[in-house]
Amino acid sequence: MFDKWFSMSIEKIKKKYNDILIDFDKVPKDTIYQRRASFNILWDFFQKLILDVGVELCGLYRESMKISHLNTRWNKAKLPLSSIENPPDNLNNLVNRVHKLRGGIQHSKENQEFAPNSNELNDIRKKCPEFLDWILDVGIKFYRSSKNFTLPDYFSRIISYYMGEIDIILSNYGTKKIPYVANYMYLPFVIDSSYKKIIDFKEKYEKKRFQIHNLEDIGQSDLESLVDLIEIVSKIKAWEDALLKENICPKCGEKIITTNTPFGGTPDDPEPDGIYHRVGCEKCDYYIDSDTI
Ligand SMILES: [Zn+2]
Repeated sequence: MFDKWFSMSIEKIKKKYNDILIDFDKVPKDTIYQRRASFNILWDFFQKLILDVGVELCGLYRESMKISHLNTRWNKAKLPLSSIENPPDNLNNLVNRVHKLRGGIQHSKENQEFAPNSNELNDIRKKCPEFLDWILDVGIKFYRSSKNFTLPDYFSRIISYYMGEIDIILSNYGTKKIPYVANYMYLPFVIDSSYKKIIDFKEKYEKKRFQIHNLEDIGQSDLESLVDLIEIVSKIKAWEDALLKENICPKCGEKIITTNTPFGGTPDDPEPDGIYHRVGCEKCDYYIDSDTI
């Protein structure tokens, strides 16, 4: 893998991706077409970098990485990378932002009226070097440690990754009530106990994952629970996407709406200080995006 990919220094590797960013800098960002073109350069930067790291450093299968959209590609690469270190939230959000903008551009294919504004482009561009440093650093660490991997290592790493996924799910939906998405995915059948299972899994493996060192430490029931868990988590994620596409809240089943609420301003000077922008459920606390403009 890595030995073959780059017999060059880390500086040379970085230069290869930095050159893409330099191309971005050269394109003016005045017209909508220039901004669409320059966004595509940023898109290529992420697509290429994540593909290369995923394949060359993490040993992922090139063909399956190649056909994936940016978010899926990123999720696949995150599985091994998170076993070394979870990506910081700001970098994770950065990839999601690029993925969403790409969606916006693609959906406006027919009339070509959509392009990110230049502030948005420059803001993403500014954060690219941090992303590059992080993914190469963690990718190389993963590559080095993977040389000595044993089956129990893989097993506990996969569990750790799914623990991260469970944390995200539980922080979105909580543990008190079964979210709409978890019931919805089994309709029209009766309410299923899947959601409860992921809570149980978290309790059971929180400590146990650190006690897996030998093959004997992995029992039949561990394998069964893991297979079960992977299926449930994948289903929740797939249904979450499907519901969000229809603007349905995966937490409670109500509508996802966009609101812009002005704040500040006085009777003498009614001009508001800012606008609170939120994309989220109209009934509950679930939200996708919020920002103060
Ligand atoms: Zn809701």
